[in-house]
Amino acid sequence: MIHFDKVSKRYPTAQEALSGLSLHMDAGEMAFLTGHSGAGKSTLLKLIMLMERPTQGQLLINGKNLGRLHRSQIPYYRRRVGVVFQNHQLLFDRNVFDNVALPLQVSGYQPREVGRRVRAALDKVGLLNKEKHNPIALSGGEQQRVGIARAVVHKPRILLADEPTGNLDPELSAEIMTLFRQFGELGVTVLVATHDVDLITRMNRRQLHLQQGKLVSDEAIADVSR
Ligand code: ADP
Ligand code: ADP
Repeated sequence: MIHFDKVSKRYPTAQEALSGLSLHMDAGEMAFLTGHSGAGKSTLLKLIMLMERPTQGQLLINGKNLGRLHRSQIPYYRRRVGVVFQNHQLLFDRNVFDNVALPLQVSGYQPREVGRRVRAALDKVGLLNKEKHNPIALSGGEQQRVGIARAVVHKPRILLADEPTGNLDPELSAEIMTLFRQFGELGVTVLVATHDVDLITRMNRRQLHLQQGKLVSDEAIADVSR
């Protein structure tokens, strides 16, 4: 669950990147975050990831008030927020399995548990048969699916994506979105920042539209297009 209560964010050097923003997403809900460059999309995602802190207002994520989260709880909190990037940031000096395993190894999981979780994640994105491949040998769509497997290997409650289909053709983009939707069906809250209007229209999901740091519309796409 994602809950913003009158959240504002001002960077030291700039105007407000987000202004008095309130929104609520239920567990298992999927929404798109839209808006021009500079509208505040990345800032909103960074607040959820705890990469930035609000200047005003409160964020309740998975029932936790992020402002009251103890420093020692932050690593555990972050594990439950999966993030997918446009350029998927895979490491080409190791195979698919090891790329997906990385967050678990950093967290100190035992090898048996790493193996179990990595294979579960690769299975969810349909890449179990490619675990020994180097990601450089995979297609763009497959690479993005490895990025998604890595993002979900901690079984996050929230999955965030920043332009995840930026480099993919429409067919592959649709495939990636179908995957996100499937995670939604498992109860994961999915928030995808994107410029891809065709994709949003096809997916027919809630759309949160930002303009200069304000949430100016929050509707199903069917209503927006009227
Ligand atoms: P979007 O992701 O929609 O392009 P951002 O959240 O990146 O928007 O940016 C919102 C506003 O905040 C912009 O005016 C941008 O210049 C500013 N901004 C973003 N990050 C920083 C930062 N680290 N320091 C100062 N200003 C920033
Ligand atoms: P599953 O449903 O796949 O079994 P769980 O989330 O229940 O996954 O956890 C599986 C194992 O991982 C358990 O042994 C649990 O103790 C361990 N585990 C889960 N979360 C953490 C965490 N944040 N830090 C360390 N170990 C964890």
